[in-house]
Amino acid sequence: MTPLRQWLGGAGRAKALLGSRAVTWLRQWLGGARGRLVVRVAAVAVLVWLVLLPTAGGASDSTLFTLTLMFTSVAVAINWNLTGGFTGYVDFGHAVWFGIGAYTTAILMSLQPSALGIGWPAIPAILLGMVVSGALAALIGRFTMHLKGPYFSIAMLGTFVAMREIVRTWGGLTGGGVGLTLPPYLNRQLFYYLELALVVGLIGLTWWLRRTRFGAALVAIREDELGAQMRGIATTRLKVAVFSFAGASTGLFGGLWAYQNTFVDPDIAFIETRTFDAAMGTLLGGLGTVVGPVLGTAALYWLREVLWANLLDYHLVTQGVLLILVVLFLPRGIAGVFDRRSASLLRLWRRATGESGAPGISESSVDGSARIPLLPSPNGGGSHLDRGALVAARPRGVDGLASGSSPAVAGSGVVKRFGGLTAVDGVSIRVYPGEMVGLIGPNGSGKTTLFDCLSRIHSLDDGAIQLGDKDITRLPPYKVARLGMARTFQVIRVYRELTVRENMELSIQWGSVGALGHFRRTDEATRSKAQQLMDFLMLAPMSDALAGTLSGGQRRLLEIGMALMSDPVVVLLDEATSGVNPTLVEDIKDRLVAINSQQGVSLLMVEHNVQFVADICERVVVLDSGRKLAEGTPRQVMEEPAVVEAYFGAQGRKDPPEGGGSTTGLESQ
Ligand code: ADP
Ligand code: MG
Repeated sequence: MTPLRQWLGGAGRAKALLGSRAVTWLRQWLGGARGRLVVRVAAVAVLVWLVLLPTAGGASDSTLFTLTLMFTSVAVAINWNLTGGFTGYVDFGHAVWFGIGAYTTAILMSLQPSALGIGWPAIPAILLGMVVSGALAALIGRFTMHLKGPYFSIAMLGTFVAMREIVRTWGGLTGGGVGLTLPPYLNRQLFYYLELALVVGLIGLTWWLRRTRFGAALVAIREDELGAQMRGIATTRLKVAVFSFAGASTGLFGGLWAYQNTFVDPDIAFIETRTFDAAMGTLLGGLGTVVGPVLGTAALYWLREVLWANLLDYHLVTQGVLLILVVLFLPRGIAGVFDRRSASLLRLWRRATGESGAPGISESSVDGSARIPLLPSPNGGGSHLDRGALVAARPRGVDGLASGSSPAVAGSGVVKRFGGLTAVDGVSIRVYPGEMVGLIGPNGSGKTTLFDCLSRIHSLDDGAIQLGDKDITRLPPYKVARLGMARTFQVIRVYRELTVRENMELSIQWGSVGALGHFRRTDEATRSKAQQLMDFLMLAPMSDALAGTLSGGQRRLLEIGMALMSDPVVVLLDEATSGVNPTLVEDIKDRLVAINSQQGVSLLMVEHNVQFVADICERVVVLDSGRKLAEGTPRQVMEEPAVVEAYFGAQGRKDPPEGGGSTTGLESQ
């Protein structure tokens, strides 16, 4: 048994390596100048062929009809991919917008003179169909897009079925089960060219959209919606906007289809397979890529023609098997194979070579006495300052602390309950401008929950939160972020399938972007700021690696960088050093001090490493069982009997933590 297994394992590895070599070669070739030229020439050739086909190509009417239907399917797949692929909301009912566009057009065009007016001309009817689909999508998306994962999918399937039944029953308007007949049209070629132009336009539009901040934010929502909110992205608004756009666009093609078909009834206008074809084409071509739905749907059409002709009754089975094979072996579809950053390939590569973590610094390679690059400043300084100077430059002592000024962030009497458990029980905490405050306490004492309350992930059961002079107790997280609060997370939240650079460039101050700014690319200032911060945080060598491939410590640095990208007033750090190797901990410490002293950013940090807190914080707050146990300088706090008891038990050690105990295993109790 074992030799067989060994042989199989070896053969599998060899095959994977060989496969990845071939793919790597192909990717490199396609990414090179010559490959890119070939791809472009091929795309243009296909387009020219499609343009010439009806006239010079002498294609029959039925061929043109099939191709026009294919354009429709490609368009629907592109629209489906906007929510399903880019935003990560898999929609099982997308065909509903097709039906609504088709029916609106059909109703308007088939009006009898005696009834509500007379039949509309095609163009305004189709355009109104598009508007109605988009508006209904905005309305329905407002409710369904709060649902997560399968709940959203099922809700949309329900919407689809309900809408079809409404159309079927509302006979006076829709003709019920009998359907509606539209006036005949004259020119089939016209549809062909119109839809070809629209599809090419739609491809161009998604290509452009993906490169704007809006497109990048959609991907952020897919990767980590809560993280995106916490970094200032108005997720609900963007989700509904893209959902509504996709609905309108599919509605447009529905209207065109109705006119071309000259007849609609509920069973052909509202047909589930339209959704599933879009999903399947997109999966085959590459979910969440621009060309994926185009390649996949075209391939599916071609396959179907072949399979249909040769397999007769078995074509559906074959199609199902094909889908399973794609999901199993080509999780990123055809386009994914050629994606330079394909995560599955990276994984394959790492498995084959035994390499771990992104290339670049190892966690211990940074010399402790290294000079730290300066943070990006508004006037863009790039010189260096050494560690001793940084520490000396810190402007304060505990007593002189910002007396009289109002706090940068303040929680008063914060209470948070989970069922019967009171995780935070009336805690008041203040951080003054420019201050570094530590928040410590045993495991489960409510530190993370307090952070979640301050940053508005949780709503409070009692108490209030101020950020500067603003009451933020009821604001949504994205608004809190826009007012200048940034944070990192105990369980790291980065956008794993995006590169380090993309992660940074996505974490801008969204409050200053504005509606139109969403539709621009990342600007030069953002790019150079991201670069400077990556230099500062030792992330530059791995700036083009996917964040998911970084080591834990590197990801913690990335999270700090992402927090700083938004020019925060205050940063909440939740265990920024946990799971990080001791040398890197020192580097993180230096950088936090630099951030604080150079930019005046206030820091509130949860740490299990008491030595770390004692070294850099002027004030420490201790929590125990959801209550504030003590507050003061690190030394004062560690000499409090109550703190010693909470940490070490009644028979506790009496020596303060400065005695070199460092991490002291406090967390393990
Ligand atoms: P700390 O960060 O200090 O280790 P937490 O704030 O994570 O502590 O947890 C405080 C208490 O609240 C713990 O008892 C924990 O089990 C509980 N708790 C935290 N989050 C939730 C939640 N979402 N639902 C229920 N209980 C929770
Ligand atoms: Mg915690």
